[in-house]
Amino acid sequence: MMYADAHKAASHVSGERLWNRLMRLAEIGATAKGGVNRQAMTPEDSQARALMADWARGLGFSVQQDGIGNLFMRRDGRDISRLPIVTGSHLDSQPTGGCFDGVLGVVMALEALEAIQEAGIRTHHPLEIVAWMNEEGSRYGPVCMGSSVYVGRMGLAEACASVASDGAVLGDELPAALAAVAPAEERDFGAPMAAYLESHIEQGPVLEEQGVQLGIVSAIQGIRWFRCEVTGAEAHAGTTPRRMRRDAGQAAMRMIAAMEEAFTDEGDAIRFTVGQFHVDPGSPNVVPGRAAFSIDLRHPDAALLDTLSEQVHAICQEHRGPCQVTVEQVGGVAPVDLAPWMTGVLDDCAAELDVTRMTMPSGAVHDASNMAALCPTAMLFIPSREGISHNEAEWSEPDACRDGARLLAASLVRIDERLSQ
Ligand SMILES: [Zn+2]
Repeated sequence: MMYADAHKAASHVSGERLWNRLMRLAEIGATAKGGVNRQAMTPEDSQARALMADWARGLGFSVQQDGIGNLFMRRDGRDISRLPIVTGSHLDSQPTGGCFDGVLGVVMALEALEAIQEAGIRTHHPLEIVAWMNEEGSRYGPVCMGSSVYVGRMGLAEACASVASDGAVLGDELPAALAAVAPAEERDFGAPMAAYLESHIEQGPVLEEQGVQLGIVSAIQGIRWFRCEVTGAEAHAGTTPRRMRRDAGQAAMRMIAAMEEAFTDEGDAIRFTVGQFHVDPGSPNVVPGRAAFSIDLRHPDAALLDTLSEQVHAICQEHRGPCQVTVEQVGGVAPVDLAPWMTGVLDDCAAELDVTRMTMPSGAVHDASNMAALCPTAMLFIPSREGISHNEAEWSEPDACRDGARLLAASLVRIDERLSQ
């Protein structure tokens, strides 16, 4: 009995309807290589948002928009005093983006709400689809701008001052973007929500490799960025004996090799990357007097991230030899814990629907990272072929998208029931 309505909702999901909408949106900003260029605040982005709003209106949902262009489409609940349960993602893309990143989560949300409607289920809470503005941050930084403004981590004025690489100013383009979905009711920034559930492609290869249908996200990785500078002394590559050298390049490589070994864990959860490496003066016959490299370190556990960060400092000092080294943390993002009771609902519903799944952290940052500060938040991952993302070759199978929408529809119903008890 407990899952009767959840089953009913899932059974009304149409994989074909979902796929047709996805392919219709893929036409907006379509690129020659089969991807999309639908960067935030462009006419293509506005066209996609307007189409979503039209589809939602066609189902009798009301449309709201806030001052930065986050778009909300609402199916009323039985109890108008209740906060909305919100699901969605983003419609904007990278300049050479795929047809699934972000947009799949929004289309799945619409399919789930349509299925719930067709099943004749009247939820206690209103259900809302959201399309966040400018998640990709490709044209106007930073990433996750719309949700950051919504939760108050970034001011609207600051967002409006953002300048694109082509010289455009966001504040100048915003009025046209807002007008594209008119008429829409005004939504206040920070308007509270009962829960937030985001569906997204995995953007990694793990689900496909494991042969699992869906991923249930337990946490979003935190990140620490470091800049390491090693100082030695330049010397003649032929005449200077090794014992007398202060080779900054060799010292940097010893440090990196030692960290690579120290940061290898059995569960393969620590992500350690040296993406930049420079030696000076950069001549084949000069012993480098200076070396600089970057570190990108990620893990979902904040305490472990602290420990690893201490190790970065210690290992660099330990392996500097006759050189000097400075290690500076130049930025970071805190890990985000998602609501265990919500991941539990997803897992229970997946079991009920006979969908194979695994629990995993998210390697990428999402709008859910911001929403977790506002309300209980969870995420659902759909497999990405070969883990390819931010690429026109991005692909998820139609069946996987349908399975995701079935689990989403069932979970929304169960979340509504859980919060109404
Ligand atoms: Zn995305």
